[in-house]
Amino acid sequence: MYEHLKYYGVSERVINAMNMVDRKLFVPEEFAESAYLDIPLPIGHGQTISAPHMVGIMCQELELLEGQKVLEIGTGSGYNAAVLSVLVGPLGKVYTVEIVPELAQKAAERFKLLGIENVYVFLRDGKEGLPEFAPYDRIVATCYAKKIPPPLIDQLSEGGILLIPVGNEYAQTLKKIVKVRTNIEEFSVTSVKFVPMV
Ligand code: SAH
Repeated sequence: MYEHLKYYGVSERVINAMNMVDRKLFVPEEFAESAYLDIPLPIGHGQTISAPHMVGIMCQELELLEGQKVLEIGTGSGYNAAVLSVLVGPLGKVYTVEIVPELAQKAAERFKLLGIENVYVFLRDGKEGLPEFAPYDRIVATCYAKKIPPPLIDQLSEGGILLIPVGNEYAQTLKKIVKVRTNIEEFSVTSVKFVPMV
């Protein structure tokens, strides 16, 4: 299904993980026919499920390993979290925070229905991260920030990677932050278009 993602530099391992999660189960029924197209789709409340190539690029840049602890900001449909859960494996954990109650609830229901047991959904403002389970090996935001919220850097473990779109409603850059001891290394991955972190 997602073989074409290798042209974006997405590895076989990430493509396999994406092929294991049925995107159709994460989109509203009226968009079921478009579920396998490589485009973002509306999921209600003015929000969207990201295009598969964007999920692939982000999972690739996160350099995920089995057993890791990941924090996602912006659960949305839950699709990205489900792919993350495959990539960290049964020994890994995915914490995901969402600010819209209906989306958080629906995503939690999907995880339960699909028997996904290593994803934990919290109704929170992602700008604060999720301090009670910190530090995280990986943090990924699926909504853009004007500036990187400092708690996200604080909650990153030594050697950890934070991926976050930074910019404004017109132009955003996917930033990759690597925490090396007390230093922060920042890289620009690519131009992106996400909904805002509110
Ligand atoms: N990862 C999602 C894509 C979600 S779109 C998926 O796979 O479907 C971005 C999400 O971020 C939206 O659901 C939006 O409600 C949420 N969001 C926006 N601001 C937020 C904030 N401050 N804290 C947590 N979630 C937020």
